[in-house]
Amino acid sequence: MNGKNTRREFLSAAGTMAAGGAALAASASLASEPSAIPSSPDHRRPLLAEADVLIVGGGPAGIGAALGAARQGAKTLLIENHSFFGGVAAWSMGMQMNQMRPGGKPRSQVHELLIQKLKAYGDQAIRLGQHEIWCNVEYLKVAVLDALDQVGCRYLVHLRAADTLVENNRVVGVIVATKKGLMTLRAKAVVDCTGDADVAFYAGAETMIEASTLMPMTLGLTVTNIDQTKVRPADIEKALHQARGQHPLIPSGFIEVKQLAHSVSWWINHAGTADLGRMDPTDVEQRTQAECFSRRQALQMVQALRASDNPALQPIEWSGAGPQVSVRESRRVKGVYVITEEDAMTGRTFEDAIAWRSGFLDLGGQKDGKYVKMQIHDVPYRALLPEKLDGLLTAGRCLSATHAGAAAGKSMGNCMATGHAAGLAAALSAASNRRPRELKVAELQAALRGDGVDLAAKDREQSWLK
Ligand SMILES: Cc1cc2nc3c(=O)[nH]c(=O)nc-3n(C[C@H](O)[C@H](O)[C@H](O)COP(=O)(O)OP(=O)(O)OC[C@H]3O[C@@H](n4cnc5c(N)ncnc54)[C@H](O)[C@@H]3O)c2cc1C
Repeated sequence: MNGKNTRREFLSAAGTMAAGGAALAASASLASEPSAIPSSPDHRRPLLAEADVLIVGGGPAGIGAALGAARQGAKTLLIENHSFFGGVAAWSMGMQMNQMRPGGKPRSQVHELLIQKLKAYGDQAIRLGQHEIWCNVEYLKVAVLDALDQVGCRYLVHLRAADTLVENNRVVGVIVATKKGLMTLRAKAVVDCTGDADVAFYAGAETMIEASTLMPMTLGLTVTNIDQTKVRPADIEKALHQARGQHPLIPSGFIEVKQLAHSVSWWINHAGTADLGRMDPTDVEQRTQAECFSRRQALQMVQALRASDNPALQPIEWSGAGPQVSVRESRRVKGVYVITEEDAMTGRTFEDAIAWRSGFLDLGGQKDGKYVKMQIHDVPYRALLPEKLDGLLTAGRCLSATHAGAAAGKSMGNCMATGHAAGLAAALSAASNRRPRELKVAELQAALRGDGVDLAAKDREQSWLK
């Protein structure tokens, strides 16, 4: 595995640089110490809240974790960097949440609670597929709040985890950036659902990122004012591919157009930054380039449709784009077990199964014009536990897996399932003052079954995306 990095290594390098700076300061004649600045870390980072279970990141995994932990009775706090929950499900602007009901069957009470809250808003909010749900993201953002409120989960937004509190190699809280400065959140167990493994990285856990295989980022967009009796999604896809000569930012790779819930708006998914080469979403410069390029790319796509020779496309209006690019892949945590592509393609089962994943291998779109189907496979509890760090669980996109192992089954329903298991495990650990790795897996499995999760691999039915 290349690209191993821990924040402790980075900090030790930064410490060396700081020491050099201190030596320079000592030899120079400087003004007196700025004694007005308080030096106590507690004063500078006051306690904002305490919880049994703290979940960082409110995407599909974080929602699953928060609902799982709070339903178990834990005092649960979910924090999110944006002003709303949903993660990629929300800022992609309407992509289908795959594997929410594989085979059309309920997957867990946690998945069903979100579906039920969406259904309460009617057909515009949700369209059910064979295994997936199509949402209007504005309804989704409110439905998540409804579900969190129902289970009594506390949540705070505009809170970005910026560091961790680690005591005796155990994560006991996070430092968050707020408008009032850095503040502290403490918890008996923490779940990293940031997608990018921020918490694990800050705490010094080994994380994995493979620069040579990173997948593109994509800014989702929506268009409206379409006469659906005259235009099919394929017309839009074709027009965009043909317009690349005049609009060179349009991706050369895949472009997919889908109808949102029961709406007249259509959602465009595409190969995003693929033509810029492999980019690291955690690198500040590369991320800035990706975000700015993607805004111009979306603009060119809309301009191309409005300038199309097809008169039915000319009235199209741009109705929205995400608040940020959607990230397919970045850092992943190195756990006690690392899920591999082989596990996914052979449908591997594990004694310590706490969830299963189904769907396809998402390597950034289609391979030779087709999606690569995987087998339903188990997720072992060990893949949620960082190898060398206590007090922390990881779930969703950043759980412990190789590049292809992570690409396998990272559909949102699967991410919710691993989040659900991580949240429950955190709640059970907190209730009994045990570290997550001390938890008896049978106890966690029993709690998951109680939440309607069928962990028996033999009964599973593969349900397919397309
Ligand atoms: C372009 C694209 C197309 C996709 N297509 C599909 C599809 O059609 N169907 C499907 O099911 N899946 C699809 N996926 C995959 C799916 O969207 C992701 O795997 C899934 O959203 C991952 O969920 P997550 O909760 O792990 O992470 P995310 O959805 O990335 O959520 C992470 C959350 O954590 C928050 N966060 C991050 N850092 C911090 C921090 N430091 N402090 C506080 N909060 C933080 C973020 O704001 C975000 O809300 C697609 C992904 C991409 C990028």
